[in-house]
Amino acid sequence: MKKIAGIIGIGILALVAIIAWNTVTFNGQQPPAASLKPMAAFDEPAALTHFSKALQIPTISYEPPLTIDSTVFEHFVTYLEQTYPETFSQLQWQRVNRFSLLFQWKGSDPQLAPIVLMAHYDVVPVDSSSLTQWEFDPFSGKITDEYILGRGALDDKVNVIAILEAVEALLRSHFRPQRTVYIAIGHDEEIGGNHGARQIARQLIQKHSRFHFVIDEGGAVVQGAVRGIDPPVALIGIAEKGYVTLELRTTGTGGHSSMPPAHTAIGRLAAGITRLENHPFPARFTPPTRGFLTAVAPYMPVSARVFIANLSLLGPVLKKALLKSPTTAAMLRTTTAVTVIRGGVKDNVIPTGARALVNFRILPGETSDDVQKYVEQTVADTAIRVEKLNGAIEPSPVSRTDTPIFTTLRRLIRAVYPEAITAPYLVMGATDSRYYAGATDRVYRFSPVFLQKADLSRIHGINERVRTDSFTQAIRFYYHLVQVLQ
Ligand SMILES: [Zn+2]
Repeated sequence: MKKIAGIIGIGILALVAIIAWNTVTFNGQQPPAASLKPMAAFDEPAALTHFSKALQIPTISYEPPLTIDSTVFEHFVTYLEQTYPETFSQLQWQRVNRFSLLFQWKGSDPQLAPIVLMAHYDVVPVDSSSLTQWEFDPFSGKITDEYILGRGALDDKVNVIAILEAVEALLRSHFRPQRTVYIAIGHDEEIGGNHGARQIARQLIQKHSRFHFVIDEGGAVVQGAVRGIDPPVALIGIAEKGYVTLELRTTGTGGHSSMPPAHTAIGRLAAGITRLENHPFPARFTPPTRGFLTAVAPYMPVSARVFIANLSLLGPVLKKALLKSPTTAAMLRTTTAVTVIRGGVKDNVIPTGARALVNFRILPGETSDDVQKYVEQTVADTAIRVEKLNGAIEPSPVSRTDTPIFTTLRRLIRAVYPEAITAPYLVMGATDSRYYAGATDRVYRFSPVFLQKADLSRIHGINERVRTDSFTQAIRFYYHLVQVLQ
């Protein structure tokens, strides 16, 4: 007995030692910052004015059946043409479906796989009921001591303007890339990107069998985003979740409510929904989330680092903790959100049917078909029909992080934002870059702008703004990106 106790004691000690060793030696491996030369041929105040003017043009994407104001979009394209004369005269460019723009900056070596820089200039409407809460006119492009403000400042005109400023400065200083650079500027991202980014991607994929890398919005340098971590984290999206809405429908025989069946169509549907909510999708650590945890762990308190450094041993405990918050739970599983329910017409009439809509955000590695199957099994009632609504988006493939490109990208970000740490992560929403899925495993979703966590709610929200110094850093980022990621 004593012997067994001794063996167990030694076993526990060994385990503790392994866990401690893993924690102490755990290394998130932030690559060193790249060294960058100052930008040449760049006029900072002029760039800020250009950005402000771009924000003043209300290029709003309305939800169909409403249509865009084509005069405004035409005005925006003309504005870019006047503001960036070198880009429009030296690069080959074309309009795609009237208002999206595709520039080709021919590289000196046509054999090399090209780079695609993506951005979009359409913006979401401003909810008129929230107008009084705006501190300024959303389309004033107002510049204060610290910020530039306006709808689209963060999403996504900052990237449109920063890319064009960078390219314009490089052209003025006679830089010529070795690989071809495409600049793809969409005009309908906020309503799905079908006419812009999708068509551009189709065209480019037809022409090129591979891409050096594609970069689009989807991440940023965020301070306060991760609890327990002081430095800002540059989040580089290496995959995005999928999207599907399922309709759950029951039918009933109807009749007078004075002699009801035990369960009406509504009751039956409600029971199915309850089963679904009580059985969430299984949680797991996907490669983007593993990569994220690994990158941020060294900056976390030991109490958190110990779990990440020992994921194979303590993963289940960490999972349990992360599932407690909806934000972190969304990183680990396909999420279930019952969003719409309809049924019944009158208080004394048995309903002849009921229907609910349930929205799912799908984890990479799963598909919308998997979701449907899981829901059918979980609801487990053949009287409830489960059908997919149109508009499902499969989760993206996971981009590679073991390439020199990814390391260079991280080094560049650290040069532009020296205080930031970089981390791959899983994007919760969909970006236009999904149209390159399957064509390359090097899609990186990252906007080179600095935000406080609270600023995130300003995207599509009230008082959208960008720090003016961050706008300049964004230009620097693209200026060097085109040069160092050759
Ligand atoms: Zn956007």
